[in-house]
Amino acid sequence: MYYNECPFCGCNLDPGERCECRDEKEKKKRKFEDLLTISSDEQIVLKEAVV
Ligand SMILES: [Zn+2]
Repeated sequence: MYYNECPFCGCNLDPGERCECRDEKEKKKRKFEDLLTISSDEQIVLKEAVV
């Protein structure tokens, strides 16, 4: 049997399986990027919230 090892947390993954620890990070990152944007003068600014 061959297992991939998650390079982030070291847990064993089935071939082709993605570790959830990374999914969570990417989800958070994507959420973060959804909320923030880089303005033309390279400042991180909050996008206008749609509440
Ligand atoms: Zn992991």
